[in-house]
Amino acid sequence: MPEDKLPTRKDNFSEWYNQLVLKAELADYAPVRGCMVVRPYGWTLWENMTAALDRRFKETGHVNAAFPILIPMSFFEKEKEHVEGFSPELAVVTHGGGEKLEEPLVVRPTSETIIGYMYARWIKSWRDLPVLINQWGSVLRWELRTKLFLRTAEFYWQEGHTAHASKAEALEEMHRILDIYADFAINEAAVPVIKGAKSETEKFAGAVMSTSIEGMMQDKRALQSATSHYFGQNFARAFQIQYLDPSNLLQFCETTSWGLSTRMIGAIIMVHGDDQGLRLPPRIAPTQIVLIPIYKSDAEKSKVTDTANRLFAELKAAGLRVKMDDREEVTPGFKFNDWEMRGVPLRIEIGPKDLESGSVTFARRDLPGKGSRTAVPQSGLVAAVKAVLGEIQTSMLTGATAFRDANIHDPKSFDELKQVVQDGWAFSWWCGSKECEARVKEETKATTRNIPFEQPKENGTCIVCGKTAVQRVYFARAY
Ligand SMILES: [Zn+2]
Repeated sequence: MPEDKLPTRKDNFSEWYNQLVLKAELADYAPVRGCMVVRPYGWTLWENMTAALDRRFKETGHVNAAFPILIPMSFFEKEKEHVEGFSPELAVVTHGGGEKLEEPLVVRPTSETIIGYMYARWIKSWRDLPVLINQWGSVLRWELRTKLFLRTAEFYWQEGHTAHASKAEALEEMHRILDIYADFAINEAAVPVIKGAKSETEKFAGAVMSTSIEGMMQDKRALQSATSHYFGQNFARAFQIQYLDPSNLLQFCETTSWGLSTRMIGAIIMVHGDDQGLRLPPRIAPTQIVLIPIYKSDAEKSKVTDTANRLFAELKAAGLRVKMDDREEVTPGFKFNDWEMRGVPLRIEIGPKDLESGSVTFARRDLPGKGSRTAVPQSGLVAAVKAVLGEIQTSMLTGATAFRDANIHDPKSFDELKQVVQDGWAFSWWCGSKECEARVKEETKATTRNIPFEQPKENGTCIVCGKTAVQRVYFARAY
């Protein structure tokens, strides 16, 4: 069915992505421009991701709560940089119950202000600190150019907001969360990411310091996949978040915020997908294994189905996410393509020949073509499946890491940098000036992605102006 084929990544990466999202039934366009509908398959993937993250947040002492989606307009005006950063993106409610509101209400684009307001009421003493609250929900930003998962008006995410007694503790929290994000991206999503600090230009509106994890997509563009911010006392002063220290002196808190959104699904698609469709890492895949019984005659059917049912029950009992595709109205070939489009990591075919030899046939989604098919004994199937899912998880990370590393360059001149960032990243010395950063952006569309925390001991010279530089930064064109 040629109309079901995706454009190739090479021919049109952007359209490949758009169609994959629709055909794999991850999401769809909503009637309101810029909004997205996350379909059950996409939402199950998100649930698996949120469970993996939520577990990590709770293990490090965080708790969940829920704050309202409507925020008084005046709250935004309390932190100058914050309001300047978000004003163009705000959706504002002016009427309610048929009447004009006294004060307009903003549909939250992020919740620093409303949470800051509540923290000011809740925090009294050093004994109340730290406050480590996370919220799962959605936010709304009036985006003009949208793309499913990558940039939509409303999107789903978690936002953590913490308050601390000291700068050291707040900075430690910012780093702790960034480590959690990186661990999640690498070990659950098999997306190799780079941790680092954002430049002054690229940091969050109102933050003293912003950090990010950045991943390389297969078109070699960067995707900021999560951020963790340190606010110093900016929000604490704007919202009077204060505590009495052990000497009974009134102090301002130090706060942080951090978020990872459904954008991460975009990263997973663009890091792992191929021309057949999605490829999902087993740890977060909604379906890890699909069983496909194959037969021609009725006699074959009953034998194959019996075995398939027995193996299905074994796998399910072992806690694996397994599906049986016993649809009668479509061919096995159709089913193969269908599940390949959805990125199911492992397909198990069970046919008459497999029954004769007491085996089944494994087909790995992470490996190309026929080389991916192997016969595996039916006895000990659960252990074999678990082992191969582990191998798939590892091979996906290894493959993505090798791809990324092969496309990070060390240009020797500004001219060379201009070339390499058209089809890769540059890891270069930078003097830290806004002028040099702006010049790279103007002439190449590449921006600074982040500045890794571990830097070489020696100094270098800025790739743009030639002055002494103490840090290297990643330059890349980004989503
Ligand atoms: Zn410079």
